[in-house]
Amino acid sequence: MKTTSILGFATTCLALVATLAFALPGAAAEAPGKIKVLLVTGDDVQPAHNWHAVSQAIRETLTTSGKFDVRVCEDAGVLDSAATLGRYDLVFLHMYNAKTPTLSAGAKENLASYVKDGKGLVISHLSSASFKEWEEFPKLCGRYWVMGKSGHGPRAVFKAHISNKDHPITQGLADFEADDELYAKLLGDAPITVLVAADSDWSKQTEALAFTVAYGQGRVFHETFGHDAKAIQNPSVQKLIQRGCEWAATGKVQ
Ligand SMILES: [Zn+2]
Repeated sequence: MKTTSILGFATTCLALVATLAFALPGAAAEAPGKIKVLLVTGDDVQPAHNWHAVSQAIRETLTTSGKFDVRVCEDAGVLDSAATLGRYDLVFLHMYNAKTPTLSAGAKENLASYVKDGKGLVISHLSSASFKEWEEFPKLCGRYWVMGKSGHGPRAVFKAHISNKDHPITQGLADFEADDELYAKLLGDAPITVLVAADSDWSKQTEALAFTVAYGQGRVFHETFGHDAKAIQNPSVQKLIQRGCEWAATGKVQ
């Protein structure tokens, strides 16, 4: 997709947000009882990552559960508005800023405060490699991808183990086979609660693939799955994402 069409989408998105904000106060809440999700996408390493297809798969995963009202924004500039962020229970980051500018200072402050003050954040696949100059972002991610250090073997089918059967996200879930990239050697030493892990042939280590991070009053669910739509459409991964999003937004899974 050319830059012009990305800008076109972004402009449309922002115009829509602005219109809803002025014409229909609280418009993001028109689905009562549902968890309001802002899915931020629009850039990634290409052609390796088709962010458009994957974000649609994530959206479908959430909406088919019946628990979520999902808005997709293809411009991370949406984070510039604290008022817009405040209308959502959860921000789901599915992007890597390969071509687009990093976040503004205001957007960084907004996102960190959003989580610190008690809202939810989901980090997926390569998102943790974003915004390299932002010192606080690795703390939000718990573990983060560093180009040239982190990696994975060839995309393959592998066994993912439920490491924590007591956490609300993974309670009742069984080990499963993923068909994805097995992310390895993410960096960081912040305290995390590992929920799903797998043995990597590439790093020769057991790698945390899904985990939670406490950040202020808020909750972060970080899952490294999602190289493509097929990887997301695995029913076990879908369940993990649905439950992780519900927990990050509300602190529980019903
Ligand atoms: Zn990938």
